[in-house]
Formats: sequence, structure tokens, C-alpha cells
Amino acid sequence: MHDPGASGLKTLTIILGAGVSGLSTALALLKRGHTVTLLDRGAAGGESSWAGGGILSPLLPWEYAGAVSSLALRSMAGYADWVAEIEAISGRDAEFWRCGMLALDVHSPDQALAWCAAHGMVAKQGAPQTISLPSSGSNQNPVWLPEVAQVRNPRLVAALRAAVVQLGGTIHEQCPATGVLTQGGRVTAVQTAAEAFPADKVVLATGAWSGLGLAGLAATPHIRPIRGQMLLFKLDPGVLDTILYRNGLYLIPRRDGHVLVGSTLEDAGFDKTTDAATRRRLHLEAAELLPVLGDVQPVQHWAGLRPGSPGNIPVIDRHPDFENVFVNTGHYRYGVTLAPASAELLVDLMEGATPALDPMPYRWEVALERRWSATL
Ligand SMILES: Cc1cc2nc3c(=O)[nH]c(=O)nc-3n(C[C@H](O)[C@H](O)[C@H](O)COP(=O)(O)OP(=O)(O)OC[C@H]3O[C@@H](n4cnc5c(N)ncnc54)[C@H](O)[C@@H]3O)c2cc1C
Repeated sequence: MHDPGASGLKTLTIILGAGVSGLSTALALLKRGHTVTLLDRGAAGGESSWAGGGILSPLLPWEYAGAVSSLALRSMAGYADWVAEIEAISGRDAEFWRCGMLALDVHSPDQALAWCAAHGMVAKQGAPQTISLPSSGSNQNPVWLPEVAQVRNPRLVAALRAAVVQLGGTIHEQCPATGVLTQGGRVTAVQTAAEAFPADKVVLATGAWSGLGLAGLAATPHIRPIRGQMLLFKLDPGVLDTILYRNGLYLIPRRDGHVLVGSTLEDAGFDKTTDAATRRRLHLEAAELLPVLGDVQPVQHWAGLRPGSPGNIPVIDRHPDFENVFVNTGHYRYGVTLAPASAELLVDLMEGATPALDPMPYRWEVALERRWSATL
């Protein structure tokens, strides 16, 4: 069977899902000269990629499997340049900010510091003098990670979207893919309600929905939606200028004085509703970390659906049923962080190039073997 990609010819790739995973894959393909069309069932970047916090690091990096760390560290090392290029192409600011992260109440700080030293991540025991520690709750064992950065999610996805369009990509919004048309071992087109989009290659980047599959296309193993609720506050700029983390709760400052507080991990299906009890709890815990938050009410409260995966390990691979279908999904809590290295890995696999990272942990058949544990 003729493979237009294998002979070096540039191909038309249809990407399903225009979140950060689909958009970053599109960008990488466009930069290598391919033609790309994205289809999204809603607005581009309107789901998890909009709802998230934009911290560019696993929350406690030493707590994750090597498969998460290698993708994360590769992404983190190149993130500033990746964003700068997106901003240059799009003319939009993604608000990349190397604001650092202070983790409080770290259980084994010596192990954490040893992990950071072994992985080239700058870490210091103790809090910088510029940060006033909260008076309530435990402030034991602070670990300061000065190089952790953030982006402002809605701005990053808007910049990515504009860069993709600027480089010649096409985006169809409100256009859910319903299935695929096949011939032999290949998908020939993606079916939507209105029309069928012919494709040389297809990339599945449908986030939390990847666990559902499409007519003719098997679902990605063990992916399921994990809801996260978020609160947004507005303070004066400069009140907080680093990310604070303690026992699962984080505060993320934006340069204009907004502060995000998150989050929850809820196994609630595709339900994005928020609730008053969670709002009260997040507000209370946030005020313990930053007392001034106790004097103001949140300006917004929302929920997003993370593409949950066992061990937080995404699936980045060829689809087992079709030689021209690929998958980039299941980035769970860190899809914004992992986006550049995941897109690079997938596009290397699509082009038959040798990837910079070992692709094995992200293979479909390896994902089949993983199981959800009791903790989300
Ligand atoms: C509260 C919260 C906080 C977070 N904080 C962080 C953080 O600080 N740092 C970090 O790195 N990550 C964070 N994340 C995780 C991160 O946001 C996600 O891992 C990432 O956005 C996943 O991107 P995605 O493109 O795979 O999925 P999504 O952004 O959900 O995109 C998938 C897209 O596929 C579309 N789609 C679905 N089905 C179809 C179909 N049949 N046809 C066409 N389109 C379809 C959807 O409409 C959607 O736009 C957070 C997430 C949440 C919810």
C-alpha cells in the first residue's frame, strides 16, 4: 500500500481535537511542511486546555514515574523558546512567566532535593526571604523551585491557534468527528455530521473524550475524564508573585493580580458542574495560605475535564488498528507542560524519524497493561 508520508512527500493530516495537544501537534507538523486540518466538537482550546492552571511542571516532580519526568523535563527545558516562537508567529502574548514555585510541607525534602539534583532541576531548601509564609497550617520543609514557570492558559491556546492558522493550518470548530471511513488497513477520511474530510493521516487528540472512541476507531485504553474545579480571585498586582503549593492545593498568581486556586480531582464522568461546598473549601484553604484571600470573594468558579490516565502517562503512538492513525492523548494533570515534547515525539514517529526520547512507555500496548489505582 502506498504511504504518502513514507516517501518523504508531505501529507494532509486531520487532527481530531484542537486543545493544546492537537494544536501543538499541528504546529509541529506545519513547521515540517505538512498540511493540517483540525476538527473540534466545540471551540478550539475551549476544554481542559482553557480550564487549567498553566503551571509548567508536575506539582511535586519527584513524585512521578520516569515516563512523566522525561517528557516534562524535555518540555520544560525548551518551553521559553517554544512560547517565544508561537508569540512571534501569532503576534500574541501567552504570558510565560518564570515565577518559581514554593512547595510547603514537603514530606521528604532530602529525597526531593536529591531527585532535583539528579535531574538538573534547580531546587533549594527553605523559602526565599521575599515570600512571607502563612501563619496557619504547617510550613515545615519548604522547597523552593525558582525556575518553574507558568503560562496563562486562555492566552496560550489563543496564541497557538493563531500561529497554526498563520502557518496555513485550517481549524473547523463546532465540528465533532463521528467516525472514520476505512479501506484496507488505512483510514481514508474522517466523518462529521456535515461532510467527510479525506485524510492521508489522522491524529486523535480528543483529550478526555479519547476514552470513548469513534465509529470504526477503538477508544484509547484507560483514558477517562477527571474533573478539576478552580477558583479565580482578583488582587492588586504584586501581592503574590510566585506559585504556592501545600498538600494538594496551589495558588497561581497572574501578573495583573489575578490568583487561581486549584484544584480537585473528581471522578464524575463528563459533568462539568461546580458546587458550593467545594467553592467554600477551596476558598478556606486558599485563605490559610494567603490570608488576604479571606477578605475577598472569587470572581469566577469553573471546572474542566482532564484527560485522566493511569500514572499520568500519556499515549503517544500509532493506533494499533490503522497504520495511518496516531494518538496524542491522556496527559492528565500536565498536558500544558507536556505539550511541546509530546508533539515532537508524535511527529517524529509519524515521519519515521528517531525520537529524542524512548517512545516505549507511551506505546498503546504498554498503556493497555496499566491500571487505575485507588488514588486519582
Ligand atoms: C483544573 C485543571 C487544572 C490544570 N492545571 C494544569 C497545570 O497547571 N499545568 C498543566 O500542565 N496542566 C494542567 N491541567 C491539565 C491540562 O489542562 C490538560 O492535560 C490538557 O489541557 C489536555 O489537553 P488536550 O488537548 O489533550 O485536551 P483538551 O484541551 O480537553 O482538548 C481536547 C479537545 O478535543 C475535542 N474533542 C473531543 N471529542 C471530539 C470529537 N469527537 N471530534 C472533534 N473534537 C473533539 C474537545 O472539544 C476538546 O477541545 C489542568 C487541568 C485542569 C482541568
